[in-house]
Amino acid sequence: MSTSPHSWRQYLGVFRYSRRAIELVWQTSRALTFILAIATLVAGLLPAAAAWVGQLIVDGVVAAIEADAGIPERLLWLVALEGGIIAGIAGGQRAIQTVQSLLRAQLGQRVNVMILEKAQTLQLADFEDSEFYDKLTRARREASSRPLSLVNRTFGLIQNGLSLASFAGLLFAFSPWAVAILVLAGLPQFFSEAKFSGDAFRLFRWRSPDTRQQMYLETVLAREDSAKEVKLFQLGPLLLQRYRDIFERLYREDRSLTLRRDLWGFGLGLIATLAFYATYAWIVMSTVAGAITLGQMTMYLAVFRQGQSAVSASLTAISGMYEDNLYLSNLYEYLEQPVSTGTGEATTGAIPNDGLRFEGVSFRYPGSEQFALESIDLHLAPGQTLALVGANGSGKTTLIKLLAGLYTPSAGCIRLDGTDLRDWDSTTLRQRIGIIFQDFMRYQLPVGENIGAGDVTHFQDEARWQQAARQGLADAFIEEIPGGYHAQLGRWFKDGRELSGGQWQKIAVARAFMREEADVLVLDEPTAAMDAAAEAEIFAHFRELTRDRMAILISHRFSTVRMADEIAVIDGGRIIERGSHDSLLAREGQYAHLFQLQAAGYQ
Ligand code: ADP
Repeated sequence: MSTSPHSWRQYLGVFRYSRRAIELVWQTSRALTFILAIATLVAGLLPAAAAWVGQLIVDGVVAAIEADAGIPERLLWLVALEGGIIAGIAGGQRAIQTVQSLLRAQLGQRVNVMILEKAQTLQLADFEDSEFYDKLTRARREASSRPLSLVNRTFGLIQNGLSLASFAGLLFAFSPWAVAILVLAGLPQFFSEAKFSGDAFRLFRWRSPDTRQQMYLETVLAREDSAKEVKLFQLGPLLLQRYRDIFERLYREDRSLTLRRDLWGFGLGLIATLAFYATYAWIVMSTVAGAITLGQMTMYLAVFRQGQSAVSASLTAISGMYEDNLYLSNLYEYLEQPVSTGTGEATTGAIPNDGLRFEGVSFRYPGSEQFALESIDLHLAPGQTLALVGANGSGKTTLIKLLAGLYTPSAGCIRLDGTDLRDWDSTTLRQRIGIIFQDFMRYQLPVGENIGAGDVTHFQDEARWQQAARQGLADAFIEEIPGGYHAQLGRWFKDGRELSGGQWQKIAVARAFMREEADVLVLDEPTAAMDAAAEAEIFAHFRELTRDRMAILISHRFSTVRMADEIAVIDGGRIIERGSHDSLLAREGQYAHLFQLQAAGYQ
């Protein structure tokens, strides 16, 4: 173990987040933090006082025996005082425990809220960044235990530190050398514990991708939504084996670290014990030689014993602190992730009723080499319908995501009523654009709220649910479900029921119809699981109800697509053809080809 300045900082790394943890507790509850500090002070300082009173008692007893004049009253008072001090210590320790239990719940809630609040400010791209997502899940998993644990250990360390300092104060009267031995004997163990904690900290950080994989496997193996496939494809044993292999690898590293740590700890601990007992012998000899009184000897021995246990308690605290630090470093990295505020202030467009324009829009996903969209130019006026057609992976959904503001174009710009999306106030923009994606959410909420989710301001408005359900052709089946609009969906909760794929899609379309105020409505293939007749009927409806609004739809069915005023054919991220159904057929290009393929399938 070297002692270069670098490793000094490394040793002190276990305290890296203690200040922040204490700040966190302070912000959570000042009263409780205050009580915790006082109790720590009491529990830290009183043991030395008890030892000191013990000395007075023994010396008093010796003096009383020598004087042979009965029991002096002062002696009884001293015993009572020591009893009081011990009760004080017990009270302090109990107070620490009580405060900790109270803080546990509050602190956990506070950290969870901080994590979730932060999640609201993130961009979709952040969620798709695996490392970042990892930080988020880890932060959530241990939110209720780690910060408190770090606080506990920090305060525990302070408490033991105070005890040690006060013991040293008493011991100083015996000999400054004894104090030096007490401190020096503990140091090697302290540093070795801190060093190995630091190593463990780095080990944990570095292996995070493995842990993440393990967590993922756990999820796949134990969640209802994956259980079906895992069973059918008999993936269980294979995935479980992977899970075991990762564990074995991690365990080997852990074992090596644990063994090294404990061997060093034991060796250095022996030095400390040796030093302690040498001092013990010294104290005994000094007493026999008459240099100190019997009472002083009792006190020094008590101080020594308790000093030793304070040292070992401190070391235990330190060795737990690295894991807490790991958690907090992760938590703060997550909380401090910069967010692009990137929202403007415009609540009305520069050219009202200009509609939607894509001007030379190109886009590349973060970390991707290829453009998902390239030089897209489009104009959609109010009252127009646009259909996007193209093979899987051609970029249709990406275009919608850009329109939704979930990502920002890499080049070019998108304007609504003449104003760049980036300059719009984000709330206003979200109200004006309503989108249902193909992977829309199936909330484990009542049927009605699943529809109401389309417009938060009418989330629980039953009349609106019913109207939207009628428009999305969902009313017929909803009325047949026991409980109707109040039936719980999903399997997580009691009496939850599952819907078929097509029924869910009708719910999703109804959700779109909730957005009465939106002037751009987008349906990205949410009807693929319906039969062709139902889809055509829904789109006809959709068309009618969005007469003066802009609508964009993505579908692979030409019976639907042909209803749109304008059709854009996308291939490899570019628009290769554009026009009405008839003009595109007349062109005899890609569209005509695909149309004939599908038509042939129905003949
Ligand atoms: P479509 O909706 O036409 O089926 P998408 O717009 O979903 O196609 O995808 C276009 C391309 O962008 C595909 O090559 C796909 O692999 C890629 N892509 C889609 N989503 C992401 C993402 N979140 N990160 C990186 N690449 C993506």
